Amino acid sequence: MTQRTYSESDVVDFVIVGSGASGGVLAKELSIAGFNIVVMEQGPWQPPSQFSHDELATIQQGKMLNTTIDPIQTFRKTEKETAKVSSGRGLTYRRGVGGSSVHFTANFWRLRPIDFHERSVWGSIPNSGFADWPISYEELEPYYTKVDWEIGVSGAPGPFDAPRSKPYPVPPLPLKSSGALLEKAATAMGLHAQVAPMAILSQPYDGRSACKSCGHCMSYGCEFGAKSSTLVSVIPKAIATGRCEIRVESTVMRVDVDKTGRCTGVVYRDAKGEEHKQRARAVVLAANGAETARLLLMSKSPQFPHGLANSSGKVGKYIMFNGGGGTVGRFAHPLNEYKGHVVSRIIHDFYDADPKRGFYGGGGIDARFPSGPLSFALGGLPKDLPTWGSGFTQSLHDYYPNTLSISGHTTSLAVETNSVSLDPDHVDRLGRPVLRLTYTDHPDDMKSKAWFQAKTRELMEAAGAEKIWNSPIRESNGSVHLLGTARMGNDPSESVIDKHHRAHDVPNLFICDGSSLVTSTRGQPTMTIQALAFRAADHIAKFAREHAV
Ligand SMILES: Cc1cc2nc3c(=O)[nH]c(=O)nc-3n(C[C@H](O)[C@H](O)[C@H](O)COP(=O)(O)OP(=O)(O)OC[C@H]3O[C@@H](n4cnc5c(N)ncnc54)[C@H](O)[C@@H]3O)c2cc1C
Repeated sequence: MTQRTYSESDVVDFVIVGSGASGGVLAKELSIAGFNIVVMEQGPWQPPSQFSHDELATIQQGKMLNTTIDPIQTFRKTEKETAKVSSGRGLTYRRGVGGSSVHFTANFWRLRPIDFHERSVWGSIPNSGFADWPISYEELEPYYTKVDWEIGVSGAPGPFDAPRSKPYPVPPLPLKSSGALLEKAATAMGLHAQVAPMAILSQPYDGRSACKSCGHCMSYGCEFGAKSSTLVSVIPKAIATGRCEIRVESTVMRVDVDKTGRCTGVVYRDAKGEEHKQRARAVVLAANGAETARLLLMSKSPQFPHGLANSSGKVGKYIMFNGGGGTVGRFAHPLNEYKGHVVSRIIHDFYDADPKRGFYGGGGIDARFPSGPLSFALGGLPKDLPTWGSGFTQSLHDYYPNTLSISGHTTSLAVETNSVSLDPDHVDRLGRPVLRLTYTDHPDDMKSKAWFQAKTRELMEAAGAEKIWNSPIRESNGSVHLLGTARMGNDPSESVIDKHHRAHDVPNLFICDGSSLVTSTRGQPTMTIQALAFRAADHIAKFAREHAV
């Protein structure tokens, strides 16, 4: 399908920066609503037929990731330190049309009503910026349902789920060995294993095929189009309107404003590094919780000397990841977990934070085997086994098909000093200051990780594993869940956007992606990021029709 293209002399209705989980939804909704759109995407447009199962290129070399093209980020634990070049992968996402929705694992959990007003229930938590959302679950529910039906989600209701206005559009994916063992363990411990909601089709839907159980979901693109990325679900519909252009290999460097402080468009570099400007009546940032913050901080002007939309000083602050703690086990019989979708059953009995635990923190638990053969050989075996020779190959043979992990996915508290900012000492290949992460886990987050790891060990024992091992609980120094850096709120001195995703400081600037979240979710934030995008698009379209942008 050929897409409509615009020239630089055109003033389009909206420029959207980023074509990922949120940007794809916004592009579809705003173009169907009748607006002219240019979506700026820094990465390429890879059709599903180009996705491969090459573990070396995809996992070890991270060919689709930001951290391969721009390898330098910096990290420090506190604001007093000078950040050093990160040793790990840092703030990681996929560059390209569809963003990280292309290679994500597709666990797709809704929030529950409690998530939106937990601060009121718990009170303040020392050394945190724990806050209520300015919206409720009830306001977001119709949009969660819209995500289910427009993106394509498989599942079945569980005992602890929030109310839903419509059933899932497609039934659950098949039960896997890991799911059967999690059910067995849950029953033995008086807990409840429930079907895992997944953004993967269990049967043909909306012109797309069902999952073929190839086993290459996590970190891979789906060549069958069964994973419900924005690349295959909503972006084709945006293009079909004839009003939306996705401009690839175009990295936005700054958002421009006029003397009155209104956005006039974005300045970007094309694949050759040449600078251009796309003019627009309004700008929507959907570049994720790391890049949206960098872009705002880089968009300094006399009107906004501390960065665009940053009169509160909160841009880039309160970055949240999700924690986790897990246990690995080997079973007597093969499980062959490397096949199929990653997760088929989850446990949400511990979702709510519970004062009896002595700290704030809740989460979900799943069972999975997150390793291809190469990654497993490079670090998946327990440490007491041989690392070379025939003993090593025999161990790989004995362990690879028989192993699974049970993992916690936990909350992360918003802490003001945890931030993404512009590194003063390093620039990337385009001359942008590199992402600097300042991060120390809140003590309650560390306690959550340890508590959930202990639970996963109990579950592994109840599931009947014959050998059990754990990795030590670690402090975070990066993540693939990039949340909270332009948070939503009613108070302009405490937040960056209002409850309709409009920047408090700039009437024609909207921000809607992982950066909008006020609390961290219990892992799996993308369902909420996309529900927010559907909701934001409704409000933005209404404001535009009323000439109120
Ligand atoms: C391996 C992996 C597994 C994951 N599994 C899950 C899971 O199971 N469940 C879950 O809920 N979440 C999961 N996630 C997280 C999930 O992918 C993200 O939460 C989600 O994609 C974030 O959506 P977003 O719209 O905020 O940003 P993204 O999807 O990251 O999209 C941002 C887009 O903006 C583009 N961009 C950035 N800066 C610029 C710029 N300056 N100019 C132009 N374009 C730009 C990027 O290239 C990208 O395409 C996973 C992530 C990874 C990496």
